[in-house]
Amino acid sequence: MFVSDHLGINQQHHLTIGGVDTIELAEQFHTPLFVMDEDKIRDHCRQFRHSIEEYYQGAGLVCYASKAFCCKQMYRIAKEEGIGTDVVSMGELYTAMSVDFPVEKICYHGNNKTPQELEYALECGVGRIVVDNLSELHLLNDLAGNMGKKAVILLRVTPGIDAHTHQFIRTGQLDSKFGLAIELGLAMEAIKQAIQLPHIVLDGIHCHIGSQIFDIDPFEHAAEVMLSLIAEVQTTLDFSLKTLNLGGGFGIQYTDSDDPVAYDCYMKRVSEVVKKKATELGLPLPYIIIEPGRSIVGPAGITLYTVGNIKEIPNIRKYLAVDGGMTDNPRYALYQAEYNFLIANRADAPKDDTVTVAGRCCESGDLLGEHIKLQSAQVGDILAVCATGAYNYAMSSHYNRVAKPAVIMVSGGVAKEVVRRETLEDLTRFDI
Ligand SMILES: *Cc1c(COP(=O)(O)O)cnc(C)c1O
Repeated sequence: MFVSDHLGINQQHHLTIGGVDTIELAEQFHTPLFVMDEDKIRDHCRQFRHSIEEYYQGAGLVCYASKAFCCKQMYRIAKEEGIGTDVVSMGELYTAMSVDFPVEKICYHGNNKTPQELEYALECGVGRIVVDNLSELHLLNDLAGNMGKKAVILLRVTPGIDAHTHQFIRTGQLDSKFGLAIELGLAMEAIKQAIQLPHIVLDGIHCHIGSQIFDIDPFEHAAEVMLSLIAEVQTTLDFSLKTLNLGGGFGIQYTDSDDPVAYDCYMKRVSEVVKKKATELGLPLPYIIIEPGRSIVGPAGITLYTVGNIKEIPNIRKYLAVDGGMTDNPRYALYQAEYNFLIANRADAPKDDTVTVAGRCCESGDLLGEHIKLQSAQVGDILAVCATGAYNYAMSSHYNRVAKPAVIMVSGGVAKEVVRRETLEDLTRFDI
């Protein structure tokens, strides 16, 4: 009945997460509230880490894509689980540095990094800067030269793969704002230039084909294309690209219609392709990096809301309004993302009603879902939305000057606050 096995129902008929009663959490910490199962997050980190150890003999690193959910505790977890992290802004890097994240395990991404950001990344000494384009390559070389440093980089290339996912989260195809297209010869040109530049150390290449992808085929295909490029560089330039970063994008289950593969399947199948192709091309096995974001935190999180106004328009629809909305979860407004909903205080009652869940913002598009099957709800009920651990808190906004919710993590049956709820003073802090 549940999309995730860490959710349950107790004797009070209340939804539980990691064994903790969600209604008690709502009473203690108020709503809207993000609740994440820390044990589950750690388990996902381990599954990915072990999949490299088990299936790939060439060594590698899991880098958690922290844009999915970023806070100090999340970096502490990644650090303790022995994985690395991806950052895409000074803010993310600063947060990682504030918990002494091992810099050699950080990849710095972005399609338009500012000179200040690049300097900061060099100053911190991040392990790899993933360079997106030629102008960034030259800018970084100059900055590194001025600072008396060498920049270790990967070049982001687009392998020309069209993964079957929503157009806003597709990134591997030719028409993308990210990266250097292999098929236009831009990747090769950038590699040639990078090798020549005195303050650049070209460590390898990177691709990321999209997000919420269920098929393994496009990942295998990407690995093949990338290995061919490594081979071409080896033969034509006599230069060996040591690291192959294959990105993230592994799909998770939001609703019953989603059918994700087990996390270790990616490395199992991709390793086969990499080993086979490397042997075929006479290449040493590259150091592999994978960058799961959504799959590490998404299924671990839920959001709790209090049901407010219920408005029935005869023969049209029933609106159920909650005390959050697009400010804490803009994904339905952005791309009609679907979720599983339930009334947490009557979690095992039959879902015999159909509703539209509306947020509290002054925007008709502020909905969390339409045609939602739900237990019949009353004012004051607690509504739970499942699998909201990724790209929810991270995408939250202050629209309508709504304060951001708290984030709670549960572990071993105990709940702790990891991001506190914003106060009214927080909201006016920057006003002059
Ligand atoms: C977003 C992103 C990821 C993570 O994608 P998920 O779908 O969350 O796994 C990994 N690498 C890069 C470069 C990204 O931009």
